[in-house]
Amino acid sequence: MPMYEYRCTECGKQYEQLRRMTEADTGLMCPQCGSPEVQRQISACSIGGGASSGASGGGCGPRGGFS
Ligand SMILES: [Zn+2]
Repeated sequence: MPMYEYRCTECGKQYEQLRRMTEADTGLMCPQCGSPEVQRQISACSIGGGASSGASGGGCGPRGGFS
């Protein structure tokens, strides 16, 4: 089972959860406030990232992430 990263749009809580791929976007609930308004974060870095030297940094992660 893959690990997915989620962020609650209500309280901003970010958390990771192991879910089946077929259930990655169903039945989501924030563990902090219980809101169903949870977005799955696409971890582009770990998926297709690779070492592309020269690319402008900062393209990693979801928009408005940490920095
Ligand atoms: Zn929440």
